[in-house]
Amino acid sequence: MTRLLIIGPPGSGKGTQAEHLARHFGIPSVSTGEIFRSNVSQETELGNQAAKYLDGGDFVPDHLTNAMVRKRLLDGDASSGFLLDGYPRTVLQVVELDNMLASQGRMLDAVVELQAPDAELEERMLRRAREQGRTDDTIEIFRRRLDLYHRQTHEVVSVYAGRGILVSVNGSGDPGEITGLAIDAVEQFLASPRPRPD
Ligand code: ADP
Repeated sequence: MTRLLIIGPPGSGKGTQAEHLARHFGIPSVSTGEIFRSNVSQETELGNQAAKYLDGGDFVPDHLTNAMVRKRLLDGDASSGFLLDGYPRTVLQVVELDNMLASQGRMLDAVVELQAPDAELEERMLRRAREQGRTDDTIEIFRRRLDLYHRQTHEVVSVYAGRGILVSVNGSGDPGEITGLAIDAVEQFLASPRPRPD
């Protein structure tokens, strides 16, 4: 029954940590980046519309992204919890998600923020470019994604901090250790008494 969101800059290992956290909490991981990439490779209508934004490191327009998430969260496996990865990325998307969840009488339980210095992120991205060959993993596009993160997604972090549900984790170092830190931090947070708005 856990509803989580993971936020982190490009190259922070967000996708990997999302998989581990989701497995630990027994919830599906809903990664907007992954869903877009698989639509692009299968050349679906959504994929064809989204491809140019992914390749350019830009956000896919909200009408496409919001509709996709809304539909995904209605799937049966997400009814008792999920871990969102990559959405919401802007304050407007936060409002959309609030509405989607409110219509089911739900809200997020915790938001995990992975923190890592820009220089380390760039280094990791270059490694991933060699290993996975993602079309948006070039240095220029990466800097654009990082810049978008700092300008827009940071605000999202502030919104959740204001709601008292932000759990920040040091995302620098060994991936296995980071997973352990993140799981401990989330469990501790979920176990702690906190005021719930009604
Ligand atoms: P990263 O966090 O490493 O940049 P993601 O896999 O989360 O990568 O996202 C890859 C791309 O997918 C983004 O650069 C963007 O084009 C698109 N995307 C993912 N999530 C969203 C979103 N919430 N809103 C708009 N575009 C998105």
